[in-house]
Amino acid sequence: MKKELAILWFRHDLRLHDNEALKEISAAAQTILPVYVIDSRLVNGELPGGIPRMYRTRIQFLLESIRDLRRYLREIGSDLVVRVGKPEDVIYNLSEKYGAAGVYCNRERMPHESSVQDALEERLWSLGQEMHYYRGKMLIHTADLPFPVRRTPDKYASFLKETEHFITVRDPLPSQDQILPFPDLDLDPGPIPKLSAFGYDDAYTNLDFTGGQVAGESQLMKSLYEITNQGDEQLRISPWLSNGNLSPKFVYHQVEAHEGLSNLFKQTFKRKLILRDYYRLTGKKEPKTLFAKGGFQHKPGKAGNWDIGLFHQWVAGKTGHDYVDACMKCLSETGYLNHRQRKAVSYFLIDEMEVHWLLGASYFQTVLLDYDPCSNYGNWQRTAGLSLDLKGRHPLNFELISEQMDPEEQFRSQWAAYEVPMDKLLLQKSDI
Ligand SMILES: Cc1cc2nc3c(=O)[nH]c(=O)nc-3n(C[C@H](O)[C@H](O)[C@H](O)COP(=O)(O)OP(=O)(O)OC[C@H]3O[C@@H](n4cnc5c(N)ncnc54)[C@H](O)[C@@H]3O)c2cc1C
Repeated sequence: MKKELAILWFRHDLRLHDNEALKEISAAAQTILPVYVIDSRLVNGELPGGIPRMYRTRIQFLLESIRDLRRYLREIGSDLVVRVGKPEDVIYNLSEKYGAAGVYCNRERMPHESSVQDALEERLWSLGQEMHYYRGKMLIHTADLPFPVRRTPDKYASFLKETEHFITVRDPLPSQDQILPFPDLDLDPGPIPKLSAFGYDDAYTNLDFTGGQVAGESQLMKSLYEITNQGDEQLRISPWLSNGNLSPKFVYHQVEAHEGLSNLFKQTFKRKLILRDYYRLTGKKEPKTLFAKGGFQHKPGKAGNWDIGLFHQWVAGKTGHDYVDACMKCLSETGYLNHRQRKAVSYFLIDEMEVHWLLGASYFQTVLLDYDPCSNYGNWQRTAGLSLDLKGRHPLNFELISEQMDPEEQFRSQWAAYEVPMDKLLLQKSDI
Protein backbone atom coordinates (compact mmCIF):
# COMPACT_ATOMS: atom_id res chain seq x y z
CA MET A 1 0.00 0.00 0.00
CA LYS A 2 1.21 3.52 -0.78
CA LYS A 3 2.40 5.61 2.15
CA GLU A 4 0.55 8.84 2.62
CA LEU A 5 3.29 11.47 2.79
CA ALA A 6 7.01 11.05 2.24
CA ILE A 7 9.87 13.57 2.20
CA LEU A 8 12.10 13.95 -0.85
CA TRP A 9 15.35 15.40 0.49
CA PHE A 10 17.33 17.00 -2.35
CA ARG A 11 21.10 17.05 -1.76
CA HIS A 12 23.71 17.04 -4.55
CA ASP A 13 21.01 16.00 -7.02
CA LEU A 14 19.27 19.29 -7.80
CA ARG A 15 17.49 18.05 -10.91
CA LEU A 16 14.39 16.26 -12.16
CA HIS A 17 16.06 14.13 -14.84
CA ASP A 18 17.73 10.83 -13.95
CA ASN A 19 16.74 11.18 -10.30
CA GLU A 20 16.37 7.77 -8.69
CA ALA A 21 15.06 9.03 -5.33
CA LEU A 22 12.32 10.96 -7.14
CA LYS A 23 11.34 7.90 -9.18
CA GLU A 24 11.18 5.63 -6.13
CA ILE A 25 9.28 8.03 -3.90
CA SER A 26 6.73 8.54 -6.67
CA ALA A 27 5.99 4.81 -6.65
CA ALA A 28 5.80 4.59 -2.86
CA ALA A 29 3.90 7.67 -1.63
CA GLN A 30 0.62 9.49 -2.21
CA THR A 31 2.05 12.98 -1.68
CA ILE A 32 5.63 14.22 -1.75
CA LEU A 33 7.18 16.96 0.34
CA PRO A 34 10.34 18.10 -1.53
CA VAL A 35 12.87 19.80 0.77
CA TYR A 36 16.28 21.44 0.42
CA VAL A 37 18.26 22.47 3.50
CA ILE A 38 21.16 24.90 3.13
CA ASP A 39 23.55 23.45 5.71
CA SER A 40 24.45 26.33 8.01
CA ARG A 41 27.77 24.67 8.95
CA LEU A 42 28.88 24.68 5.31
CA VAL A 43 27.90 28.25 4.49
CA ASN A 44 29.36 29.61 7.75
CA GLY A 45 32.30 27.30 8.44
CA GLU A 46 36.04 27.93 8.17
CA LEU A 47 38.80 26.01 6.38
CA PRO A 48 42.60 25.91 6.94
CA GLY A 49 44.26 29.21 6.02
CA GLY A 50 41.46 31.32 7.55
CA ILE A 51 39.13 31.07 4.55
CA PRO A 52 35.35 30.41 4.58
CA ARG A 53 34.12 26.97 3.58
CA MET A 54 31.99 28.51 0.84
CA TYR A 55 32.69 31.85 -0.79
CA ARG A 56 30.07 33.94 -2.60
CA THR A 57 30.86 32.24 -5.95
CA ARG A 58 29.74 28.82 -4.74
CA ILE A 59 26.86 30.14 -2.65
CA GLN A 60 25.51 32.13 -5.60
CA PHE A 61 25.56 29.09 -7.88
CA LEU A 62 23.84 27.00 -5.21
CA LEU A 63 21.11 29.61 -4.64
CA GLU A 64 20.45 29.78 -8.38
CA SER A 65 20.22 25.98 -8.51
CA ILE A 66 17.67 25.94 -5.68
CA ARG A 67 15.67 28.73 -7.34
CA ASP A 68 15.62 26.82 -10.63
CA LEU A 69 14.53 23.59 -8.94
CA ARG A 70 11.70 25.33 -7.10
CA ARG A 71 10.51 27.05 -10.28
CA TYR A 72 10.57 23.74 -12.14
CA LEU A 73 8.68 21.95 -9.35
CA ARG A 74 6.07 24.69 -9.18
CA GLU A 75 5.57 24.49 -12.95
CA ILE A 76 4.59 20.84 -12.59
CA GLY A 77 2.30 21.42 -9.63
CA SER A 78 4.57 20.87 -6.65
CA ASP A 79 6.92 23.09 -4.60
CA LEU A 80 10.22 23.07 -2.74
CA VAL A 81 10.51 23.75 0.99
CA VAL A 82 13.73 25.68 1.61
CA ARG A 83 15.35 26.15 5.01
CA VAL A 84 18.77 27.18 6.37
CA GLY A 85 19.98 25.06 9.29
CA LYS A 86 21.17 21.58 10.14
CA PRO A 87 19.50 19.10 7.76
CA GLU A 88 19.31 16.42 10.45
CA ASP A 89 17.24 18.83 12.63
CA VAL A 90 15.13 20.40 9.88
CA ILE A 91 14.17 17.13 8.17
CA TYR A 92 13.55 15.42 11.48
CA ASN A 93 11.25 18.22 12.66
CA LEU A 94 9.30 18.19 9.39
CA SER A 95 8.99 14.40 9.54
CA GLU A 96 7.77 14.48 13.11
CA LYS A 97 5.35 17.36 12.62
CA TYR A 98 3.73 16.06 9.46
CA GLY A 99 4.00 12.33 10.19
CA ALA A 100 6.05 11.50 7.11
CA ALA A 101 6.33 7.81 6.39
CA GLY A 102 9.96 8.06 5.27
CA VAL A 103 12.76 10.19 3.81
CA TYR A 104 14.04 9.50 0.28
CA CYS A 105 17.45 10.86 -0.74
CA ASN A 106 20.76 10.27 -2.44
CA ARG A 107 23.30 8.55 -0.21
CA GLU A 108 26.38 10.69 0.33
CA ARG A 109 29.78 9.21 1.12
CA MET A 110 31.97 12.08 2.26
CA PRO A 111 32.57 12.53 6.03
CA HIS A 112 30.35 15.55 6.77
CA GLU A 113 27.44 14.45 4.58
CA SER A 114 27.62 10.89 5.90
CA SER A 115 27.56 12.06 9.50
CA VAL A 116 24.51 14.23 8.73
CA GLN A 117 22.57 11.36 7.15
CA ASP A 118 23.58 8.95 9.95
CA ALA A 119 22.41 11.43 12.61
CA LEU A 120 19.11 11.94 10.81
CA GLU A 121 18.58 8.23 10.31
CA GLU A 122 19.07 7.52 14.01
CA ARG A 123 16.62 10.22 14.99
CA LEU A 124 14.05 8.98 12.47
CA TRP A 125 14.23 5.51 13.99
CA SER A 126 12.92 7.00 17.24
CA LEU A 127 9.79 7.96 15.27
CA GLY A 128 9.56 4.57 13.60
CA GLN A 129 10.49 6.20 10.26
CA GLU A 130 13.07 5.14 7.71
CA MET A 131 15.63 6.63 5.33
CA HIS A 132 15.59 5.29 1.78
CA TYR A 133 18.88 5.77 -0.05
CA TYR A 134 19.54 6.05 -3.78
CA ARG A 135 22.43 6.93 -6.06
CA GLY A 136 23.08 9.00 -9.14
CA LYS A 137 26.46 10.76 -9.02
CA MET A 138 28.52 8.37 -11.09
CA LEU A 139 28.64 7.36 -14.74
CA ILE A 140 29.02 3.71 -13.83
CA HIS A 141 26.59 2.07 -11.45
CA THR A 142 28.52 0.62 -8.50
CA ALA A 143 26.71 -2.70 -8.98
CA ASP A 144 28.14 -2.95 -12.52
CA LEU A 145 31.77 -2.63 -11.40
CA PRO A 146 33.84 -5.78 -11.84
CA PHE A 147 35.43 -5.24 -8.38
CA PRO A 148 34.18 -4.20 -4.93
CA VAL A 149 34.72 -0.50 -4.07
CA ARG A 150 37.46 -1.42 -1.58
CA ARG A 151 39.39 -3.08 -4.40
CA THR A 152 39.21 -0.11 -6.77
CA PRO A 153 42.53 -0.17 -8.67
CA ASP A 154 45.08 2.38 -7.45
CA LYS A 155 46.07 3.23 -11.00
CA TYR A 156 43.69 5.05 -13.31
CA ALA A 157 45.04 3.08 -16.31
CA SER A 158 44.01 -0.20 -14.65
CA PHE A 159 40.64 1.25 -13.66
CA LEU A 160 40.05 2.35 -17.25
CA LYS A 161 41.12 -1.03 -18.61
CA GLU A 162 38.62 -2.85 -16.40
CA THR A 163 35.70 -0.54 -17.10
CA GLU A 164 35.81 1.30 -20.43
CA HIS A 165 34.96 -1.57 -22.79
CA PHE A 166 33.29 -3.94 -20.34
CA ILE A 167 30.56 -1.87 -18.79
CA THR A 168 27.55 -0.51 -20.61
CA VAL A 169 26.56 2.88 -19.23
CA ARG A 170 22.97 2.57 -18.06
CA ASP A 171 20.29 4.77 -19.59
CA PRO A 172 19.32 7.81 -17.53
CA LEU A 173 15.88 7.77 -15.93
CA PRO A 174 13.45 9.94 -17.88
CA SER A 175 12.85 13.53 -16.85
CA GLN A 176 9.80 14.00 -14.60
CA ASP A 177 7.27 16.28 -16.23
CA GLN A 178 4.67 15.18 -13.68
CA ILE A 179 4.95 14.80 -9.96
CA LEU A 180 2.66 13.76 -7.13
CA PRO A 181 0.92 16.74 -5.56
CA PHE A 182 2.44 18.85 -2.81
CA PRO A 183 0.73 17.88 0.45
CA ASP A 184 -2.18 19.99 1.60
CA LEU A 185 -0.55 21.29 4.78
CA ASP A 186 -0.33 24.54 6.66
CA LEU A 187 3.33 24.90 5.66
CA ASP A 188 5.23 27.90 4.34
CA PRO A 189 7.76 26.72 1.71
CA GLY A 190 9.97 29.58 2.91
CA PRO A 191 11.99 32.20 1.06
CA ILE A 192 15.17 31.37 -0.82
CA PRO A 193 17.77 33.51 0.92
CA LYS A 194 19.80 36.09 -0.93
CA LEU A 195 23.59 36.36 -0.89
CA SER A 196 23.37 39.09 1.75
CA ALA A 197 22.01 36.49 4.21
CA PHE A 198 25.53 35.04 4.14
CA GLY A 199 27.40 38.33 4.45
CA TYR A 200 27.95 39.13 0.74
CA ASP A 201 26.69 41.91 -1.48
CA ASP A 202 23.52 41.02 -3.45
CA ALA A 203 24.89 43.03 -6.37
CA TYR A 204 27.52 40.34 -7.06
CA THR A 205 26.74 38.76 -10.45
CA ASN A 206 30.08 37.90 -12.00
CA LEU A 207 29.63 34.21 -12.55
CA ASP A 208 30.02 33.02 -16.13
CA PHE A 209 27.60 30.19 -15.31
CA THR A 210 24.06 30.13 -13.92
CA GLY A 211 23.08 27.37 -11.52
CA GLY A 212 20.21 24.96 -12.23
CA GLN A 213 19.16 22.16 -14.52
CA VAL A 214 17.76 24.44 -17.22
CA ALA A 215 21.00 26.43 -17.56
CA GLY A 216 23.04 23.21 -17.37
CA GLU A 217 21.11 21.57 -20.19
CA SER A 218 21.40 24.66 -22.37
CA GLN A 219 25.16 24.93 -21.68
CA LEU A 220 25.51 21.30 -22.74
CA MET A 221 23.70 21.97 -26.03
CA LYS A 222 25.70 25.15 -26.63
CA SER A 223 29.00 23.38 -25.96
CA LEU A 224 28.10 20.48 -28.25
CA TYR A 225 27.31 22.95 -31.01
CA GLU A 226 30.60 24.81 -30.48
CA ILE A 227 32.63 21.62 -30.33
CA THR A 228 31.06 20.38 -33.56
CA ASN A 229 31.40 23.67 -35.41
CA GLN A 230 34.39 25.43 -33.90
CA GLY A 231 36.56 22.55 -32.69
CA ASP A 232 36.47 23.40 -28.97
CA GLU A 233 37.55 20.56 -26.74
CA GLN A 234 35.91 21.18 -23.39
CA LEU A 235 32.23 21.12 -22.54
CA ARG A 236 32.47 23.47 -19.53
CA ILE A 237 29.75 21.58 -17.69
CA SER A 238 31.54 20.61 -14.47
CA PRO A 239 29.66 23.12 -12.21
CA TRP A 240 26.34 21.48 -13.12
CA LEU A 241 27.73 17.97 -12.76
CA SER A 242 29.13 18.74 -9.32
CA ASN A 243 25.92 20.33 -8.05
CA GLY A 244 23.87 17.52 -9.55
CA ASN A 245 21.97 19.77 -11.97
CA LEU A 246 23.12 17.35 -14.69
CA SER A 247 23.58 13.63 -14.26
CA PRO A 248 26.71 12.06 -15.78
CA LYS A 249 24.63 9.34 -17.48
CA PHE A 250 22.39 11.97 -19.06
CA VAL A 251 25.39 13.94 -20.34
CA TYR A 252 27.16 10.83 -21.59
CA HIS A 253 24.17 9.68 -23.65
CA GLN A 254 23.63 13.18 -25.07
CA VAL A 255 27.25 13.26 -26.25
CA GLU A 256 27.06 9.71 -27.65
CA ALA A 257 23.90 10.55 -29.62
CA HIS A 258 25.19 13.86 -30.95
CA GLU A 259 25.88 13.72 -34.67
CA GLY A 260 28.95 15.49 -35.95
CA LEU A 261 31.23 14.63 -33.05
CA SER A 262 34.20 12.42 -33.89
CA ASN A 263 34.59 8.99 -32.31
CA LEU A 264 37.85 10.23 -30.84
CA PHE A 265 36.10 13.09 -29.09
CA LYS A 266 33.44 10.72 -27.73
CA GLN A 267 36.07 8.30 -26.48
CA THR A 268 38.09 11.05 -24.79
CA PHE A 269 34.97 12.47 -23.22
CA LYS A 270 33.90 9.08 -21.86
CA ARG A 271 37.38 8.63 -20.39
CA LYS A 272 37.08 11.97 -18.59
CA LEU A 273 33.81 10.86 -17.00
CA ILE A 274 35.46 7.57 -16.07
CA LEU A 275 38.34 9.56 -14.53
CA ARG A 276 35.74 11.42 -12.48
CA ASP A 277 34.33 8.05 -11.28
CA TYR A 278 37.86 6.87 -10.52
CA TYR A 279 38.44 9.87 -8.23
CA ARG A 280 35.08 9.28 -6.61
CA LEU A 281 35.75 5.62 -5.91
CA THR A 282 39.29 6.34 -4.70
CA GLY A 283 37.77 8.87 -2.28
CA LYS A 284 35.23 6.29 -1.11
CA LYS A 285 38.00 3.73 -0.65
CA GLU A 286 40.27 6.17 1.22
CA PRO A 287 37.91 8.72 2.83
CA LYS A 288 40.35 9.70 5.60
CA THR A 289 43.55 10.09 3.62
CA LEU A 290 41.70 12.02 0.90
CA PHE A 291 41.84 15.09 3.17
CA ALA A 292 44.95 14.20 5.21
CA LYS A 293 48.13 16.31 5.08
CA GLY A 294 50.20 13.33 3.99
CA GLY A 295 47.68 12.34 1.37
CA PHE A 296 47.10 8.81 0.12
CA GLN A 297 50.79 8.06 0.57
CA HIS A 298 50.94 9.15 4.24
CA LYS A 299 53.97 11.36 3.54
CA PRO A 300 53.48 14.70 5.33
CA GLY A 301 57.15 15.64 4.82
CA LYS A 302 56.79 15.65 1.06
CA ALA A 303 53.93 18.07 1.03
CA GLY A 304 55.31 21.64 1.45
CA ASN A 305 55.30 24.41 4.06
CA TRP A 306 52.30 25.57 6.05
CA ASP A 307 53.11 29.19 5.19
CA ILE A 308 49.89 31.22 5.53
CA GLY A 309 51.54 34.48 4.36
CA LEU A 310 52.66 32.94 1.06
CA PHE A 311 49.34 31.18 0.71
CA HIS A 312 47.51 34.51 1.01
CA GLN A 313 49.80 36.03 -1.64
CA TRP A 314 48.80 33.24 -4.01
CA VAL A 315 45.09 33.72 -3.21
CA ALA A 316 45.40 37.48 -3.77
CA GLY A 317 47.07 36.99 -7.17
CA LYS A 318 50.27 38.62 -5.90
CA THR A 319 52.87 35.97 -6.61
CA GLY A 320 54.77 38.13 -9.11
CA HIS A 321 54.06 35.75 -12.02
CA ASP A 322 51.67 37.63 -14.29
CA TYR A 323 49.83 34.66 -15.81
CA VAL A 324 49.40 32.82 -12.49
CA ASP A 325 48.23 36.07 -10.88
CA ALA A 326 45.66 36.66 -13.63
CA CYS A 327 44.33 33.12 -13.15
CA MET A 328 44.03 33.60 -9.37
CA LYS A 329 42.15 36.88 -9.82
CA CYS A 330 39.82 35.30 -12.35
CA LEU A 331 39.26 32.35 -10.00
CA SER A 332 38.25 34.50 -7.04
CA GLU A 333 35.85 36.61 -9.12
CA THR A 334 34.24 33.90 -11.28
CA GLY A 335 34.79 30.66 -9.34
CA TYR A 336 36.10 28.95 -12.47
CA LEU A 337 39.36 28.10 -14.28
CA ASN A 338 39.83 25.61 -17.08
CA HIS A 339 41.89 22.50 -16.47
CA ARG A 340 45.22 23.85 -17.73
CA GLN A 341 44.83 27.01 -15.67
CA ARG A 342 44.09 24.91 -12.58
CA LYS A 343 47.21 22.90 -13.25
CA ALA A 344 49.28 26.06 -13.69
CA VAL A 345 48.23 27.66 -10.40
CA SER A 346 48.38 24.45 -8.36
CA TYR A 347 51.83 23.49 -9.63
CA PHE A 348 52.98 27.05 -9.02
CA LEU A 349 51.85 26.97 -5.39
CA ILE A 350 53.54 23.63 -4.77
CA ASP A 351 56.70 23.81 -6.90
CA GLU A 352 57.60 27.52 -6.95
CA MET A 353 56.17 28.72 -3.63
CA GLU A 354 56.65 25.42 -1.79
CA VAL A 355 53.37 25.87 0.04
CA HIS A 356 51.42 22.89 1.37
CA TRP A 357 49.00 21.38 -1.16
CA LEU A 358 46.21 21.15 1.42
CA LEU A 359 45.98 24.95 1.65
CA GLY A 360 45.58 25.14 -2.12
CA ALA A 361 42.95 22.39 -2.11
CA SER A 362 41.04 24.18 0.67
CA TYR A 363 40.99 27.40 -1.32
CA PHE A 364 39.65 25.60 -4.39
CA GLN A 365 36.97 24.11 -2.13
CA THR A 366 36.00 27.62 -1.02
CA VAL A 367 35.63 29.17 -4.46
CA LEU A 368 35.21 26.57 -7.23
CA LEU A 369 31.70 26.40 -8.68
CA ASP A 370 32.37 22.78 -9.57
CA TYR A 371 33.88 21.87 -6.21
CA ASP A 372 33.66 18.15 -5.67
CA PRO A 373 35.59 16.65 -2.73
CA CYS A 374 36.93 13.61 -4.59
CA SER A 375 37.83 15.39 -7.85
CA ASN A 376 39.35 18.35 -6.05
CA TYR A 377 41.40 16.66 -3.34
CA GLY A 378 42.24 13.81 -5.75
CA ASN A 379 43.59 16.19 -8.41
CA TRP A 380 45.52 18.17 -5.79
CA GLN A 381 47.10 15.01 -4.43
CA ARG A 382 48.15 14.11 -7.94
CA THR A 383 49.68 17.58 -8.34
CA ALA A 384 51.51 17.16 -5.02
CA GLY A 385 52.84 13.73 -6.06
CA LEU A 386 50.87 12.00 -3.29
CA SER A 387 48.38 10.20 -5.47
CA LEU A 388 48.18 6.39 -5.44
CA ASP A 389 48.59 6.61 -9.19
CA LEU A 390 52.04 8.10 -9.55
CA LYS A 391 51.94 8.52 -13.30
CA GLY A 392 51.99 11.98 -14.78
CA ARG A 393 53.93 14.13 -12.28
CA HIS A 394 56.21 16.28 -14.46
CA PRO A 395 57.29 19.83 -13.54
CA LEU A 396 55.57 22.54 -15.57
CA ASN A 397 57.15 25.23 -17.67
CA PHE A 398 55.16 28.28 -16.57
CA GLU A 399 56.53 30.57 -19.28
CA LEU A 400 55.53 28.12 -21.99
CA ILE A 401 52.05 27.69 -20.53
CA SER A 402 51.53 31.47 -20.32
CA GLU A 403 52.65 31.82 -23.91
CA GLN A 404 50.41 29.03 -25.18
CA MET A 405 47.36 29.96 -23.15
CA ASP A 406 47.58 33.71 -23.55
CA PRO A 407 49.72 34.52 -26.62
CA GLU A 408 48.38 38.08 -27.02
CA GLU A 409 48.46 38.72 -23.24
CA GLN A 410 44.78 39.64 -23.44
CA PHE A 411 43.80 37.55 -20.40
CA ARG A 412 46.63 39.07 -18.35
CA SER A 413 45.64 42.63 -19.33
CA GLN A 414 42.00 41.93 -18.51
CA TRP A 415 42.86 41.04 -14.90
CA ALA A 416 45.92 43.26 -14.33
CA ALA A 417 44.17 46.03 -12.38
CA TYR A 418 41.77 43.76 -10.52
CA GLU A 419 42.16 43.53 -6.72
CA VAL A 420 41.02 40.32 -5.03
CA PRO A 421 38.70 41.38 -2.17
CA MET A 422 40.79 39.78 0.56
CA ASP A 423 38.65 41.38 3.27
CA LYS A 424 35.73 39.25 2.02
CA LEU A 425 37.81 36.17 1.36
CA LEU A 426 39.60 35.91 4.67
CA LEU A 427 37.94 35.29 7.99
CA GLN A 428 41.16 36.32 9.73
CA LYS A 429 42.88 39.63 9.02
CA SER A 430 45.84 39.61 6.62
CA ASP A 431 48.50 42.15 5.58
CA ILE A 432 48.11 41.38 1.88
C1 LIG B 1 44.03 21.11 -8.88
C2 LIG B 1 42.76 20.68 -9.58
C3 LIG B 1 41.55 20.68 -8.89
C4 LIG B 1 40.36 20.28 -9.54
N1 LIG B 1 39.17 20.32 -8.84
C5 LIG B 1 38.03 19.88 -9.45
C6 LIG B 1 36.78 19.90 -8.74
O1 LIG B 1 36.68 20.26 -7.56
N2 LIG B 1 35.66 19.49 -9.42
C7 LIG B 1 35.72 19.06 -10.73
O2 LIG B 1 34.68 18.73 -11.29
N3 LIG B 1 36.89 19.01 -11.38
C8 LIG B 1 38.04 19.41 -10.80
N4 LIG B 1 39.22 19.38 -11.50
C9 LIG B 1 39.25 18.71 -12.81
C10 LIG B 1 39.06 19.55 -14.06
O3 LIG B 1 39.91 20.65 -14.07
C11 LIG B 1 37.60 20.00 -14.29
O4 LIG B 1 36.72 18.91 -14.14
C12 LIG B 1 37.47 20.56 -15.70
O5 LIG B 1 38.26 21.72 -15.83
C13 LIG B 1 36.05 20.85 -16.00
O6 LIG B 1 35.92 21.45 -17.25
P1 LIG B 1 34.94 20.86 -18.35
O7 LIG B 1 33.58 20.66 -17.78
O8 LIG B 1 35.07 21.72 -19.56
O9 LIG B 1 35.59 19.44 -18.60
P2 LIG B 1 35.70 18.52 -19.90
O10 LIG B 1 37.14 18.49 -20.31
O11 LIG B 1 34.67 18.80 -20.92
O12 LIG B 1 35.41 17.08 -19.23
C14 LIG B 1 34.08 16.60 -19.00
C15 LIG B 1 33.89 16.27 -17.54
O13 LIG B 1 34.79 15.24 -17.14
C16 LIG B 1 35.18 15.44 -15.77
N5 LIG B 1 36.63 15.64 -15.70
C17 LIG B 1 37.46 16.07 -16.69
N6 LIG B 1 38.74 16.10 -16.25
C18 LIG B 1 38.69 15.71 -14.95
C19 LIG B 1 39.68 15.55 -13.95
N7 LIG B 1 41.00 15.78 -14.15
N8 LIG B 1 39.28 15.14 -12.72
C20 LIG B 1 37.98 14.88 -12.45
N9 LIG B 1 37.00 15.02 -13.37
C21 LIG B 1 37.36 15.41 -14.59
C22 LIG B 1 34.46 16.71 -15.31
O14 LIG B 1 33.28 16.34 -14.62
C23 LIG B 1 34.15 17.43 -16.60
O15 LIG B 1 33.05 18.30 -16.50
C24 LIG B 1 40.42 19.82 -10.88
C25 LIG B 1 41.64 19.84 -11.56
C26 LIG B 1 42.80 20.26 -10.92
C27 LIG B 1 44.10 20.26 -11.68
